[in-house]
Amino acid sequence: MIVEKTTTEHYEVTLFPDVWNIEQGDFMRTRKKRGLKTKPFEKCFCCGHKFLEHEIPVVAKVSKIGNRFICSKCAKEVQE
Ligand SMILES: [Zn+2]
Repeated sequence: MIVEKTTTEHYEVTLFPDVWNIEQGDFMRTRKKRGLKTKPFEKCFCCGHKFLEHEIPVVAKVSKIGNRFICSKCAKEVQE
């Protein structure tokens, strides 16, 4: 018998708008050059949108995880 359970995690997201002005492509290249992980920053934490080369994400603090990026669309929804 296989029992499958899905747990739901709740995260508190605190936005830091206007503190970040680095294009995603530049940021990814810098991290890669330094041998740092890029995976946690490739997509919007909320909706999974993959950031484009010239997009500038919004920095957010996510409870239990740390800093993550959020797309401008989700950032707008969080602020409202
Ligand atoms: Zn999003």
